[in-house]
Amino acid sequence: MNKRCENCHQSFEPEPGFYFGAMFISYAFNTALFITAWVLLKIFYPDYSLTTLLVTISLAAILALPIIFRLSRSIWIAIFIPYKKKSEPSKNQSAV
Ligand SMILES: [Zn+2]
Repeated sequence: MNKRCENCHQSFEPEPGFYFGAMFISYAFNTALFITAWVLLKIFYPDYSLTTLLVTISLAAILALPIIFRLSRSIWIAIFIPYKKKSEPSKNQSAV
């Protein structure tokens, strides 16, 4: 992950542990994913065993991990830092 936005130079880590809260968004996405996987398994393979269910859910979680990880962080930073369409290189731009 870049340290700053290339366009507006907004820091992507405003403070240490900033993305801790993204865990809650990730939790919501994973819950939706688990329910979806379970419903699909129930529809297409009604006689599933517990092992099949656990393997299916684990596989879905592992495959969706890179997407959910980034999406959660994007949503979390978007909650706290408003999107600016036009770049304003004054206050946020660092000298380095
Ligand atoms: Zn930006």
